[in-house]
Amino acid sequence: MGRDRHSNAVLIIGLGRFGGTLAESLQRQGQHVVAVDENRELVQEWSGTLTHVVEADATNEAALRQLGADGFERAVVAIGTGIEASLLATGVLLDLGVTEVWAKAITRQHGRILERIGASHVVYPERDAGERVAHLLSGRLTDFVEFDQGFAIAKLRAPRSICGSTLQDLALRSRFGVTVVAVKRSGGEFGPTEPTTVLNLDDMIVVTGRTEHIERFATETG
Ligand code: ATP
Ligand code: ATP
Ligand code: CA
Repeated sequence: MGRDRHSNAVLIIGLGRFGGTLAESLQRQGQHVVAVDENRELVQEWSGTLTHVVEADATNEAALRQLGADGFERAVVAIGTGIEASLLATGVLLDLGVTEVWAKAITRQHGRILERIGASHVVYPERDAGERVAHLLSGRLTDFVEFDQGFAIAKLRAPRSICGSTLQDLALRSRFGVTVVAVKRSGGEFGPTEPTTVLNLDDMIVVTGRTEHIERFATETG
């Protein structure tokens, strides 16, 4: 298989819960996905859902070359528990010239080694999900996404104490370090806020800011 044939496709190594969900979502988005797992039963299971599933040991360079891995620009190593296999597969993909290798890490140490051998993006799905659920469980946030360096965006019900005044008068940015970027009135849809927007008790809002500022805002105004 030639290099240009897969330039837009994604190679997924490992069809565990993370890799399988990722492959399925990408395929649903219309991306060309080739998934690899060494476990024959898993490959058979997924072959009904995914268009291209291959049984192979991803730590074996010859096997990956044979399935055309060197023609991919993007690959995801979705092996977590088997750290050795995760590192070896990442190394093989980089050696084969795959430009963008994403890898799942289960610990910080695992992630650091992946970075050191050249993985372009390291993700920590279990850790991220744990943190996210902590934010949802502990407080008033109904949705929460954290970006780099503790900056986040969250959805919550408009806290009682900030209802009835304009956003301008509330000065939430200087008082709490958060910005209300969108509001959804009951029965309506989310739309952007203005300085003159007045929140009502049944509104949902979207705020951005540093994670600790959003937490403090949600706690102290609620
Ligand atoms: P998840 O939490 O996403 O279910 P995990 O982090 O527990 O997965 P593993 O179970 O170690 O990760 O690996 C995920 C998948 O990767 C498994 O289906 C396993 O068969 C496959 N896998 C592991 N090593 C290799 C390898 N060398 N080549 C191909 N596939 C592999
Ligand atoms: P991860 O979040 O690391 O992907 P996992 O989904 O692979 O975890 P396990 O490793 O099976 O899940 O379990 C997670 C933790 O729950 C382990 O520390 C285990 O000791 C604990 N655990 C499992 N079963 C029980 C139980 N019946 N009672 C108490 N603790 C349990
Ligand atoms: Ca796991």
